[in-house]
Amino acid sequence: MRVMKAPPHSRICIKCGGKLLGLAHPRWRMCPACYYEDRLAKLRPVREAEEELRITSSNLRLIEQKLDSAEDTLRRLLSVRIGHWPLYRWYLASKKRDRKVRAHRIFCDKCRNRMADLDAKKDSLKSEISDHKKLKNKCQKAIVFRQARLASQRASASLLCEFEHNTAAATDAEFDRDRFVISKKDYRRGNAIDNYFRVHLSDLAISAFSGHCLVCGSSQSLTLDHYGLAKNEGGNLVLLLKDGVGFRMNFVVLCQGCNSAKSDRDYRMFFSADQIKLIHDVHVTIARRVASDVGLRENMKKHYRDILGNRFSQDQFRW
Ligand SMILES: [Zn+2]
Ligand SMILES: [Zn+2]
Repeated sequence: MRVMKAPPHSRICIKCGGKLLGLAHPRWRMCPACYYEDRLAKLRPVREAEEELRITSSNLRLIEQKLDSAEDTLRRLLSVRIGHWPLYRWYLASKKRDRKVRAHRIFCDKCRNRMADLDAKKDSLKSEISDHKKLKNKCQKAIVFRQARLASQRASASLLCEFEHNTAAATDAEFDRDRFVISKKDYRRGNAIDNYFRVHLSDLAISAFSGHCLVCGSSQSLTLDHYGLAKNEGGNLVLLLKDGVGFRMNFVVLCQGCNSAKSDRDYRMFFSADQIKLIHDVHVTIARRVASDVGLRENMKKHYRDILGNRFSQDQFRW
């Protein structure tokens, strides 16, 4: 039996399902916010640790007091032993006194051990509390970061929604040159936008016209032609609306023969009313799919960077 390979790591947090950003380590399974929340949940509440620290400290103080008084007593016992007593009396009393001194020494040692234990506990509690606080701090920062990221994702999602909506709605409007962003590059055949469309979206466009020339119905040597705004007017297969938020479809599928028959003629002169209606319907059905093409949007941004750069705010750029 072959061992199943682990699935490639999806860059998604296993807890909240949010996207992990590019900076995330390849082995991370959670976003920082979820990670810190998880770690905090595994720790006991900081209040408990603080309470324990308080009790430990007060115990430590008690032990210190006990030790002080015990050492005091020990000192007195020792000083009495070397007093001015006659040797025989000192000898008689010494055995009893020695026992007392020994007992006191043992007691003091025990106190010292206990103090050392409590000190160690106090230190570990202190470091636990400070770790806890640091972790909490990081967690709060990560949560704020996550909220900001979610908000920006929501904003760009709604912007994209608006973009797709505008693209679909723009199909109903007339081809008015002033409504579109047009640069010198757009008069060139085979510019970046037309090229991108022909490479990545022509299958979509041709199948939207059910794989036939709109005029004669041939399925041979099909071409994409500029529809409402011709090439010599700066029209690309897709036009960018001047408000920067939306496209206008500007293509039609024709066979080579019909394409050269149309030549530079205005679309209202060449196509019948039924054909114009059909093209409109095709554009409506395809609009959202073209609008949601990330590559096309990126190409538009690059292509019109010099125009868009100073005319549009950064906000409208996020699509
Ligand atoms: Zn998460
Ligand atoms: Zn044809």
